[in-house]
Order: sequence, then structure tokens, then C-alpha cells
Amino acid sequence: MLGKPRRVDLDSVRKMDEHKEFRTFNNVDPETGRVLTCPHGPDPVLIGVRGEDPADLVAAFLMVELEEPVERVMIFKTNQGTDAHFDRESTIRDISVHQSVRLNGRVSSPPKILKGGHVFFQLEDPTGVVDCAAYQPTGSFRNTILGLIAGDRVEAYGGVRQGPEERLTVNLEKLAILSLEEDAHYLRPRCASCGSSCESMGRDQGFRCRKCGRRFPRERLIRSVLPRRLRETFYLPPPRAHRHLTKPESRQHAEIDKSQAQMVHDKLSGGALLPVQCLSPSSAPKMSHSDPRRTLRAKPWHSTPSARTRSIA
Ligand SMILES: [Zn+2]
Repeated sequence: MLGKPRRVDLDSVRKMDEHKEFRTFNNVDPETGRVLTCPHGPDPVLIGVRGEDPADLVAAFLMVELEEPVERVMIFKTNQGTDAHFDRESTIRDISVHQSVRLNGRVSSPPKILKGGHVFFQLEDPTGVVDCAAYQPTGSFRNTILGLIAGDRVEAYGGVRQGPEERLTVNLEKLAILSLEEDAHYLRPRCASCGSSCESMGRDQGFRCRKCGRRFPRERLIRSVLPRRLRETFYLPPPRAHRHLTKPESRQHAEIDKSQAQMVHDKLSGGALLPVQCLSPSSAPKMSHSDPRRTLRAKPWHSTPSARTRSIA
């Protein structure tokens, strides 16, 4: 019913999600187990399953136990999960509030945690510096951000908002790490005579043993390189924090093979291969009491290539 909790057996959605061969995505948030296919808001959609291929969507949808009647089942070709909003690179000087931007730059200040658990760092490119934020709802993504150090080269994807102190802030939706800086640290040497710790004699000066007073040149500093826990790859927040257009993890590297693309192309007229969404709108008035499976068999799918992206979160 419109605006009411959807009567869908959530465990059946979780079971369906385990069938990776269906190539659906964003059914369940892996960190919390939360089911993401059923909208909460006042719209007519009972459940929306997102995936790569119409046949897979039908198979996946048939695994879901619906506990209320549905009026019809439709398959849409949409731009959900395509990163369509990040189609071109921006420079920091040119960004403005409410834009979706993709910025290529260098981490210029190490990340820090602010009140509320939000994580911020500064990004610079030849045109300026901007704050980038991973807010609390992005969960474990914040740990990724905390692993950055100054000097890392990244591509930051996100929406520009007015952040703390009225400064433009990029709310991160994705981060590509292009190259990792060496995490080098310098340790003071131990005394070669007595083994005690040494102290610095001042900036650009050497060291002096705290115990016996023996002096050592600055070159005796010990360079230590710490291992980095991040890799040069894409990092995303968990699906529960995605916007509809955000390309999910499973689609970041996967190239759809040509035969698959042709099959979808034949079924849905024209256009590039885009994810397909299976929507089962529950009708509010004049509810049809037909079994959703019967409805589905009667009308295998309704192709609406021009359908606009539906909001279902
Ligand atoms: Zn000494």
C-alpha cells in the first residue's frame, strides 16, 4: 500500500541475493543486512530489483515472496547504477554547489574525524583546494578515507554541498586511488656506544646521546616505510548509502560480454546496455488480486526504454 511498509518476505530477498548468477545488485546492504529493494516513501512501487539482464531479473524476481497483490510487473531500462552523473572531469576552481563532480587531485591534508564521526580531508589540484567528506552514514567507507595520507593521488566523485563554515565540500560517493604515496617516517638513532636513546640537537642538526653525550650526524636518522592498507582501486560506501545513479562495486570493473549485450539490445530497443530494473508497483485503489507469478507469465516484460529512472530508496 502507498506509503505503508511493503509486505514482502525480506528473507526471500536475502536468499535471492545469494544467487550471484542472476547478476542483480544492491538488493541487500552487506554490512547491515538491510533489504534495499523495497521503497519506504509514498510511491506505488512494491519492490524494485536491479540487474544486468531481463531474463535474470525475472528469475530473481520469482524467488521473492510477495505478501500483497500486485497490479503489474514491469522491466525498465534505466541509467541507475551507471555513474551517469560523473560523465566529465571538473577542476576545483570551477565547482559550484549542487553539482556532481569528478575531481582528479592530490590529498593535501591528512584525513581527520570531526564531531559526529564524519571524516574530512583536503584535496588539491592545480586550480585550488577543496574539502572532501565521508559522512557518518557511509559507514566503513570512512575507514578507507582515514587510510589516506598527504600526497596520495585520487579521483574523488561526489556531490558539492555547503559544508562546515560555509565552505564548499564534496560529499564523497566514490574514491578511485590512482597512486599511493610512500608512508615514510624517520626514527632517531640509538647511541652506538651505550645503546641509549638520542635527542635531536635542533632543526637540521645531528643527535646527542642522552646518557653519554656522544654526538651523531643527522644522516644517522633511520628511515622506516610503513605498509599501506589501501590499494590503487575504487572504493565505495556500502550500498545503503548509494544514490540511484551510483555505479555499484560489481559493475566497476565488469565488462559485459558482447553476446549478452546483444541479447539485451534485441529485447529492449536501441541504446547502450544499461541496468534493468524490475518494478512491481502495488496499486493503491482497485487492487487486483492476481497472483504476481500469473501476471508475470501473462506479460513477460513490458519494455519501456524511455522510462525515466524510478526512485525507490
Ligand atoms: Zn651513549
